[in-house]
Amino acid sequence: MSEVGAKTLVFNGHYDVVPPGGGWTFDPFQPVVHDGKIYGRGGADMKGALASMIIAIKALVKQGVNLKGNLVFTTTPDEETGGYLGSGYLVKKKLVRGEACVIGEPTGPDKVDIAEKGALWVELITHGKAAHGSMPHLGINAVEKMAKVVVALESLKKQFAERKSKAPFPDEVRHITMNIGGVIQGGAKINVIPDRCICTLDIRVTPEETIEDVEKTLKNFLEELKKDDPDLKLEMRVLDRVDPAYTTETEEIVEAVKSAIGKVLNLSPRIGALTGFTDMRWFKELMPTVLYGPGSMSQAHVSNEYVAVEALLTAAKVYALTTMKFLGYT
Ligand SMILES: [Zn+2]
Repeated sequence: MSEVGAKTLVFNGHYDVVPPGGGWTFDPFQPVVHDGKIYGRGGADMKGALASMIIAIKALVKQGVNLKGNLVFTTTPDEETGGYLGSGYLVKKKLVRGEACVIGEPTGPDKVDIAEKGALWVELITHGKAAHGSMPHLGINAVEKMAKVVVALESLKKQFAERKSKAPFPDEVRHITMNIGGVIQGGAKINVIPDRCICTLDIRVTPEETIEDVEKTLKNFLEELKKDDPDLKLEMRVLDRVDPAYTTETEEIVEAVKSAIGKVLNLSPRIGALTGFTDMRWFKELMPTVLYGPGSMSQAHVSNEYVAVEALLTAAKVYALTTMKFLGYT
């Protein structure tokens, strides 16, 4: 029951999914139970968690657990396309409040994720001068210019790799990473000197850094390149900025989830961090937020996506015990 001054715990999960793609043995939109697993798009990412949250709430009500605080269940669309109209809307409009949030992304049964990387998505464009392919001296080859930029970026990558995060990311990626050329386009025809080349950068930013600082560093780096080459006409366009998130291990919600996992599975839980981003980036603006949910991230966005039935029940128990621990009960 709600009390004045009582704490509020927020459960959240997104109900949108990515397109099924090919390679399915089962109908992606007709879930079937096979060998103890539920197959279907969204099983792991993350309608499974929504089911577990609903089971947990039902069990708390059925058992007549008298919570000292409030439990709020929110389910939102749009996470797979940025969350602007789902969780982003809830947070920006302050339609939700609370002392902590648990998002049911698939961490697996024994792990709670307390951090996630942000992202700076950038498009680089080199502008050259078109000419006949047989007379390169009359043009400026935009693809060759971009090739020089790409090679130079290796040193920025190294610079980024020197700064290690304290958050529990896998060791290989415990720093800012950069994917160069996720999209690369240039040239129109074999016998034309290309006058334009596009190359994207997907920069994943650790929680100790700000997107603004990384953006500034990149900008300065590119400016220096231009100084070395007067023919380098290079443009940088920011496509998206996503802030990183970090809930410290000492937060009460981390303790609550860990203790619940320990009780249900009788083991010491793992603490992790996600290299991608989720709706955590929105909720962390209002309250400490963690990820915990059934299924595995390796099942997200793949064909024959599944979640084990057993995992759903485990997560439901962890959600119920987390609620009781965090809010208290009589
Ligand atoms: Zn998800």
